[in-house]
Amino acid sequence: MADHSILDRKYFIDSHIYNCPFCKRRHVAYELLGSSSFNWSEEKICNIYCVRCNSCSKISMHLSFYELRYRGAGSYGSSFQEGIDIDSSIFYSVPTSFFVIDDRIPRLVRELITEAEGSLKMNFLTGASACTRKAIYELTILEKCEGQDYETKIKDLKKKYSQIDPELIDVLAHIQNMTSDKVHEQSWQQWDSQNLKLILETFKAVLHEIYVEPQERKDRIANVARLREKITEDKKIKSDTATKVNPN
Ligand SMILES: [Zn+2]
Repeated sequence: MADHSILDRKYFIDSHIYNCPFCKRRHVAYELLGSSSFNWSEEKICNIYCVRCNSCSKISMHLSFYELRYRGAGSYGSSFQEGIDIDSSIFYSVPTSFFVIDDRIPRLVRELITEAEGSLKMNFLTGASACTRKAIYELTILEKCEGQDYETKIKDLKKKYSQIDPELIDVLAHIQNMTSDKVHEQSWQQWDSQNLKLILETFKAVLHEIYVEPQERKDRIANVARLREKITEDKKIKSDTATKVNPN
């Protein structure tokens, strides 16, 4: 069976199907209502796309620096181009999609990550790092990590989840360098978006290990147990029938 989980985590699957952020239905049809554009800067044009869910009729808004509509005979059509990765061409959406991050991860953390990623896409590094730090901090609260400060809490998280590569959790500790009270404004410069991207990706990997992987393991084991049970049942039915047919 093909793995559809990647598609489940997208906003736009193709030019007609998406995962609706309002009614939370996956793989529903949407309609591109229209688009407009404005001057983001002297040279840059930004396109605004409004999309309506065919299921709940709610409208979402998406910003892109690219022209995403298909071009028919001399004019733009009323849908996105076929065969392009729409998600990667859009840098900001309202509402943001919760589907992008696995829904077994606590909602508050998902919201903060989505906000951090949105800010990062627009190069709002201060906002992005603040959201990332808050998201990591919320995780230490949810996981009841002990300690007076951020560093100790992260160390406690490492102890609690010894199965997670400690290097991954160490990366999370770096975020405090971005936001420590001692850091002066000019120190922000050293933290370019690459560092923040690394921390965010690492954070998602850690969240996956904490909230997703254990559940998936449980599901796999349950699935094997079900199959085994079925074989035992089938065997029993067979032998029962055999006894009835041929009672000795
Ligand atoms: Zn909908």
